[in-house]
Amino acid sequence: MKTVWEKYNGKEQKKVMAFSEDYRQFLSNVKTEREAVRESVALAEKAGFKPFKNVKKLKPGDKFYFNNRDKSLALFVIGKKKIEEGMNILGAHIDSPRIDLKQNPLYEDNGLAFFDTHYYGGIKNYQWVARPLALHGVVCKKDGTNIDVCIGENEDDPILEISDLLPHLAREQMTKTGNKIVEGEDLNALIGSLPAKGEEEKDPVKKNILALLKDKYGIEEDDFLSSELELVPAGKARDLGLDRSMIMGYGHDDRICAYTSLMALLESKDPDRTSVCILTDKEEIGSIGATGASSSFFENAVAELIALQDNYHELRLRHALENSRMLSSDVSVAYDPNYPSVSESKNTAFFGKGISFNKFTGSGGKFNSSEASAEFVAKIRKVMDDNKVMFQFSEIGKVDQGGGGTIAYILANKNMDVIDAGIPVQNMHAPFETASKGDLYEAYRAYKAFLKEMK
Ligand code: MN
Ligand code: MN
Repeated sequence: MKTVWEKYNGKEQKKVMAFSEDYRQFLSNVKTEREAVRESVALAEKAGFKPFKNVKKLKPGDKFYFNNRDKSLALFVIGKKKIEEGMNILGAHIDSPRIDLKQNPLYEDNGLAFFDTHYYGGIKNYQWVARPLALHGVVCKKDGTNIDVCIGENEDDPILEISDLLPHLAREQMTKTGNKIVEGEDLNALIGSLPAKGEEEKDPVKKNILALLKDKYGIEEDDFLSSELELVPAGKARDLGLDRSMIMGYGHDDRICAYTSLMALLESKDPDRTSVCILTDKEEIGSIGATGASSSFFENAVAELIALQDNYHELRLRHALENSRMLSSDVSVAYDPNYPSVSESKNTAFFGKGISFNKFTGSGGKFNSSEASAEFVAKIRKVMDDNKVMFQFSEIGKVDQGGGGTIAYILANKNMDVIDAGIPVQNMHAPFETASKGDLYEAYRAYKAFLKEMK
């Protein structure tokens, strides 16, 4: 069989398209890690999951979630075996590259008001200019109230923009290397040009913007200090191709694997080994901090569960971690015929060939890669083949071309078997990324098979 499309024809193809449509809507509605947590909790509660609190006893089949600061989640379906015997874990990240506002963002320059920014994650700055941007996030007030902000997604909402230079005057700009065409400090978003009425003093446009913010959200300028506001590409994810076989949208990396992992977990019923889905924050900037994969959050959650199942002992927690298996559900690089020179075609993921496993990630010389063991890979192959899941094995580009990393090594450092397993994506980290609906569906099936059958 050449691609998933030969496998899914007729009625089966309809299933792929229906699943993809649900995902397309999820992706359109979820543009920040907080929005991903909110939406995932809503889906989980609909599927019978409860927040973990005041729980006195654990029994097989129980479904819980732990919410860490509304930015990361761990969801569990308790297995028939003890947690100490190991869990089957799907781990994805829900943060995506974007442009954050600085803590003192607002200023006026020659009659125009701007937000100053600091980009988040690995972006090509020049891709983010001259396009509609939406503002998402939260402003936390001193009185303890949190104000959710989302401007630019409804058709009649205003949008924001970072300007670019016209080609007529870009003679010098166009001679610069890619990383200098638009520099980080120059990513300033235009937010207004209307002066406040009757103001002759300094910064009347900025004053007018502040009055608008005060009126609509009750926000004062100082409140930006305790805000997390993110500029993201405005607009919905869309079907791509005349045949509608692909989806283009903001943040496939890694919400496409987060969504498929979450769906697989929500459908996990009476597993032998406890099923887990971790949705983590901060992957794009190194996975550190309280809500990143390196945080104690997940281990603490497992400790809580062990304490209910047995008398808590640290050894039990350590056993649980080292007996666990994990798929690091993160996107992979899809071969792009427009840029063939960066890939080695025998070890590259292609659209439509199913979920992609990376035995290792890292870069040149396998640096910083946790590399899955051959024994674990053999087990993975068996589960995939037994469940007729179409898969491919790939690397991130040619040996000396570059590379990348995921959260795999963080859990592998707990002495756990981990392999990267995700959906191939084109133009990763661009404002809009592209993925195949066939691979999306096959990854979901792979994640389900892993939760159910990995021993
Ligand atoms: Mn990723
Ligand atoms: Mn990434």
